Amino acid sequence: MFIQRLNLKPLLLVVSIFSSLAIFNIMALKSYVTDARNVHSNAIKKVSTALPLVAITFDDGPDPVITPQVLAILKEKNAKATFFMLGKHAEAYPELVQQIHAAGHEIGNHTYSHQRMTRLSQDGLKAELQHTETILFNITGENPRLVRPPDNAYNAKIVAQTQQCGYHFVLWSIDTRDWANVSPSAILRETDKAGAGDIILFHDGVTPSHIVEGLAKTIDLLQAKGYRLVTVSELMQGSN
Ligand SMILES: [Zn+2]
Repeated sequence: MFIQRLNLKPLLLVVSIFSSLAIFNIMALKSYVTDARNVHSNAIKKVSTALPLVAITFDDGPDPVITPQVLAILKEKNAKATFFMLGKHAEAYPELVQQIHAAGHEIGNHTYSHQRMTRLSQDGLKAELQHTETILFNITGENPRLVRPPDNAYNAKIVAQTQQCGYHFVLWSIDTRDWANVSPSAILRETDKAGAGDIILFHDGVTPSHIVEGLAKTIDLLQAKGYRLVTVSELMQGSN
């Protein structure tokens, strides 16, 4: 009995170490995919991190008028961002896609034609995602790993389906409402609320050019508070 116990101890130790590691890994994964404000636990609205990181994101581009202005601001202020592109716009403006990629920003999939995912069949959704993937891969040599649903329309089944296609399903925690043509100061009131791990929603597809001022002021404000502006994937890597 005594010998058996002695022999079991190292084995139990090994088993418990592996169990702890497995639990730790699950917790690490969950910490960034879940948030109290999430409706569906696998949709990422915000990342739990102790690091001073914030992710700015742009939907619906690229746009030949707005995107170059956005890129100039990001470059000047040494900030990285994530662009959730429409396949049809990437197809129309491949040189902008190339510039975004070359500048070290991240590119995500926002479907090909901005149809609500909840109105698509499973095959229809897959086709929208894959069509965009092909366009982006042909320009950048990389497949997008992030997806964002048009018009915030989704359900748990859609999240699961995109995950099966290898995507992280990314939403946001702060909406600048730039799509509603609000003033730069109104944008700033929203982005002033940002803290570590927040994901901020902007648009570079349907936004009036003056919103670019709101972006520049937002970056100045967050950097003055000590935040580093990173891509969504970098934010997820900084999760705890
Ligand atoms: Zn959109």
